Amino acid sequence: MEKILIKNGKVLLFENNDVIIKNRDILVEEGKITKIEEKIPNSPEYHLIDAQNQIVMPGLINTHAHIPMSIFRETSEGVSLNEWLNNRIWPIEDRLTKQDIYNASMLSLIEMISTGTTCINDHYFMSEQIREAVRKLKVRAVLTRVIMDVDNNLQERIDEFKSFYETRLPDEDLITYSVAPHGLYTCTDKALQASANLARQYNLPIHIHFLESIDEIDDIKKLHGKRAIEVLKQYFNGIHTVLAHGVKLDDEDIKVLKTMDCGIAHNPISNLRLGCKIADTTRYLQEGINVALGTDGQGSGSNLDMFEAMRIACLIQGGIHENEARITAKEAIYMATINGAKLLGLNTKIGSIEVGKDADIILVDITKNLDNIIMYPNSNEVANLVYNTTGRNVTTTIVKGNVLMENRIIKGVDVNEIIKSAENIIK
Ligand SMILES: [Zn+2]
Repeated sequence: MEKILIKNGKVLLFENNDVIIKNRDILVEEGKITKIEEKIPNSPEYHLIDAQNQIVMPGLINTHAHIPMSIFRETSEGVSLNEWLNNRIWPIEDRLTKQDIYNASMLSLIEMISTGTTCINDHYFMSEQIREAVRKLKVRAVLTRVIMDVDNNLQERIDEFKSFYETRLPDEDLITYSVAPHGLYTCTDKALQASANLARQYNLPIHIHFLESIDEIDDIKKLHGKRAIEVLKQYFNGIHTVLAHGVKLDDEDIKVLKTMDCGIAHNPISNLRLGCKIADTTRYLQEGINVALGTDGQGSGSNLDMFEAMRIACLIQGGIHENEARITAKEAIYMATINGAKLLGLNTKIGSIEVGKDADIILVDITKNLDNIIMYPNSNEVANLVYNTTGRNVTTTIVKGNVLMENRIIKGVDVNEIIKSAENIIK
């Protein structure tokens, strides 16, 4: 494996409970960060990446997405979550072929690489084709096969999950797995019990939609005969659980979640788009609940740009808090990096730039020019990363020492071909 020297960059580090930026060089060997020093001399054996005028930061971690949903971009305009799922998404999903899923996944993964995300937590079906795309593009992913049984297909889905998980390759360390019941309103008690059993049997986390919309509160009560939080605790207490959304947690919910091994994957753009209320992430973090960031599928989240997610995550807290303290740019950066790594159980490997961690690193262009005019004067580089940066500023994306994009060229694939192949899936 090639050794990489990232030279002359401004490196974003987490030190003494703070986010700081220092001029440092970084050496990557065997996929890991082996040195972070003021000056590391170049050598002919290194792949040299000049990071002059760039921020070098941990790759972003998208903790809730539906990888193939690139093809549903901008289909949610003007409809409620229920209407959108029932009338626009599920009928089309039923007709998708394996090739469609592969092509749609490739499109999402190049979008993800080009906007600086190095790890994605998926929640979908036809998982073999998603895994094939993930392998082809060498990103890091948590994969699954979603379980739900509103249409009585429970056993088939459990079998599909098992065969998917059991055909994993040993030593394929970029791909890990979760058990993913769709939600408490789309899974009967039987499906939730089966999911908990699978998670325990294989020692995997749970990844579930939880309180995405206030509409589901009554549906959950009708289906299970108790409150959402009681259902969650009944089945998943003691299992590490990724809760997508949690827009409307009350005092009792928070009290119970604090006793469970779980955290929130907050998807601010999708929540706003579907009119699903605003999760009070300021409070969740104050209460000690881990909050990370996600985009959700592009159907409701528009895109996989985690810089946009960071910015909106900060801004919307102003919509529910007035002058009191609320999350800042620094917290948004934690949410998109180290908090995400913790939520996915990967924080010993990724989530920060540290010696010994895997080299999941991105470079963000801050050159003084017209394209970056909104960053200057750059008196607060950390705030600028959150408020004035988009995924288009990312020049280079590295996952475990593999350079997937350099100077905005994605390696090893024909981007135009991928765009073309996903164009006509939804007609
Ligand atoms: Zn979702």
